[in-house]
Amino acid sequence: MTDQSPRTLHVPEGLPEKIQHYIDGEFVDSLSGATFDVLDPVSNETYVQAAAGQRDDIDRAVAAARRAFDEGPWPRMLPRARSRILNRIADLVESRDARLAELESFDSGLPITQALGQAQRAAENFRFFADLIVAQADDAYKVPGRQLNYVNRKPKGVAGLITPWNTPFMLESWKLAPALASGCTVVLKPAEFTPLSASLWADIFREAGVPDGVFNLVNGLGEEAGDALVKHEDVQLISFTGESRTGQIIFANCAPTLKGMSMELGGKSPAVVFADADLDRAIDSTLFGVFSLNGERCTAGSRILVERPVYDEFVERYAARAKRIVVGDPHDPKTEVGALVHPEHYEKVMSYVEIGKGEGRLVAGGGRPEGFETGNYVAPTVFADVKPDARIFQEEIFGPVVAITPFDTDEEALALANGVKYGLAAYIWTSNLERAHTFAQAVESGMVWLNSHNVRDLRTPFGGVKASGLGHEGGYRSLDFYSDQQAVHITL
Ligand code: NAD
Repeated sequence: MTDQSPRTLHVPEGLPEKIQHYIDGEFVDSLSGATFDVLDPVSNETYVQAAAGQRDDIDRAVAAARRAFDEGPWPRMLPRARSRILNRIADLVESRDARLAELESFDSGLPITQALGQAQRAAENFRFFADLIVAQADDAYKVPGRQLNYVNRKPKGVAGLITPWNTPFMLESWKLAPALASGCTVVLKPAEFTPLSASLWADIFREAGVPDGVFNLVNGLGEEAGDALVKHEDVQLISFTGESRTGQIIFANCAPTLKGMSMELGGKSPAVVFADADLDRAIDSTLFGVFSLNGERCTAGSRILVERPVYDEFVERYAARAKRIVVGDPHDPKTEVGALVHPEHYEKVMSYVEIGKGEGRLVAGGGRPEGFETGNYVAPTVFADVKPDARIFQEEIFGPVVAITPFDTDEEALALANGVKYGLAAYIWTSNLERAHTFAQAVESGMVWLNSHNVRDLRTPFGGVKASGLGHEGGYRSLDFYSDQQAVHITL
């Protein structure tokens, strides 16, 4: 633990006096004048008011996006011209790394060392799609003597992008880059817990030469601004990242207007450690998997399944390491776990810590770290001997809390891994290649990492199965989602 008091809150210089919407190239307040409080997670005090978008603000933003789509140059530009602008966006994003990290860490409680580098990842998303649209080849099929068939890609229209509060800027880039690359115009509704970094986009896009109306930002609550965006009849698709329960509501609300949907939802991903694994690497990686980003990571390996012969050793070593993780002020470079994003989320995570005490054997953490009377701080918490019907085994906690469970056979490990409603990621640790691949084929998850962290190549599909999502984005799949593919048939 750091010796700094959580009260030594670092407040970035030059914070905005208020957080506004950005519509049609201008910063504006809500038409109604409504605002909501934004808190920092260390003092839990309101540091700024943000415009609380309502239906009429969404109407205004969608109308601007629609005009830019119907009349503006963006959807009609040559891929190379859009690509140049996307590359300029990437350079601008990257040049703001330090500022972005400072704001992100202050607003979300992410340790500063982990917030640094988020800009780089966001920039890579723009570079990747800038390259892809230039290199893209569309399909053509010839039936000799009869027909030529080809695929005509068209951007879908106005895309509604709804994003969560964990690594908010980076996750926004993950939607903005392919949507804009495809020629869509967008309305972004960022998470209400963390609206600060999203306000950087407006200047970045303006400086890069994105025409007015192509990018619009409406802040506000999910049930108000988010809901109005989802139900708007002039929005052709919704790309959503957030909780599975919210995904269900949005799914139903998209039905009347038959919108395209992409849903990246919650997770309760297993990390399976076989007795033949390299235990040092497995321990390093499974610690990182659930305690980096404060455990507020969709792909967190929050259930660790360990084969019986190495179970006791694993639990003992894992708990000892978890106890040494440095909890502290998000701005302190020594900090490894910062403050959870918001008091409401803190209460939720703490309630699971209490539930866990009745469901498993507490071997590390279990409450507030010593010396932290205020702020949303949770000590890295490890429960061992957790049964598969336990709530801390089944439910997404989204904080620095992990459940460890023993298994005896490959079949049992698979049943445990698949025995939850989620299916986002899975991590497998074994030195037996055949077992690793066999397990990977059978595990119910959108993504599998064998003997590795969740680093991914941007060309690969990203997404979950079961309650973890609908549709996969990543590489060409993202461009497909934001495009209509019209088949044109010509008689020869
Ligand atoms: P959330 O579902 O509470 O909110 C996400 C967004 O949806 C916010 O912008 C919110 O304002 C908006 N929203 C809420 N209700 C809405 C409604 N009725 N209509 C329209 N919009 C609405 O999720 P959160 O707490 O911000 O984020 C954490 C969750 O996100 C976790 O479950 C996590 O696993 C998941 N997540 C998934 C991925 C992934 O790629 N699969 C990535 C990051 C986070």
